[in-house]
Amino acid sequence: MKFESLRYEQPAEGVARIVLAREETRNAQNKRLLYEVNDAFDAAGRDDAVKVVILAADGPHFSSGHDLRDKSRMDEFTPVSCWGGFDLPGAEGWMAVEEEIYLGLCWRWRNFPKPTIAQVQGKAIAGGLMLVWVCDLVVASSDAEFSDPVVAFGVNGVEFFTHAWELGSRRAKEMLFTGAPVTADEGRQLGMVNHVVERDDLDRFTLALAERIARQPSMGLKLAKQAVNQSLDAQGQWTAIQAAFSLHQLAHSHNMQVHGQIVDPGGAAVIRNQSRR
Ligand code: ZN
Repeated sequence: MKFESLRYEQPAEGVARIVLAREETRNAQNKRLLYEVNDAFDAAGRDDAVKVVILAADGPHFSSGHDLRDKSRMDEFTPVSCWGGFDLPGAEGWMAVEEEIYLGLCWRWRNFPKPTIAQVQGKAIAGGLMLVWVCDLVVASSDAEFSDPVVAFGVNGVEFFTHAWELGSRRAKEMLFTGAPVTADEGRQLGMVNHVVERDDLDRFTLALAERIARQPSMGLKLAKQAVNQSLDAQGQWTAIQAAFSLHQLAHSHNMQVHGQIVDPGGAAVIRNQSRR
């Protein structure tokens, strides 16, 4: 398989590593990157020699989120869902796009049958969080920061909304209300991050963890993952994600009516002012 936006590596027996390779954009997620991540997960899922997948990223930062400069069109890619109507006017078209490339892909990866490990350095902002949170385990370097500043843009949070499960409800609210990041150490205290290691040790540590997991039988791994995911499902996680996605679409529609664009144009200035304090 050929990829433009990532590398697909097999660094050890039983381990596949997907490495985001848009360092020049801080691994901003355009449609091509998202569909290539999906293709890479599919390849790893269908390869019986792969037991565990690491999702890593080139450069100083894991991911700066959705690529707002992405000019590609939906019809350049093959949808993974049966949603269509991506160019329809009003809320209908944009909701279909976000259902397909954000919520749909994330939910697909969350339910990937084999264990996955996010390997995170530097910043994971907004859409960057979504790629982290769909993974089963998170290994972060000590400089890693996790933030969802989209309230400044008049939106409740990113499209894949699992904040309260990841951080607990009070910390999730503070993260959203202030836009300020959760550090790697705090993430570990809260249970969002499994391990914090020095940046120089991030590759080696994550690979060693993956190799340890890969020595387990694939059946046990798949069943253990499903059992935990089903516990989250029983708590209503998917229902809550869908409800938050509906609010997210309300936000885009509101902003379109009031500001003529899907986000509040004042958001960037709000974030700039906050980071000066
Ligand atoms: Zn959105």
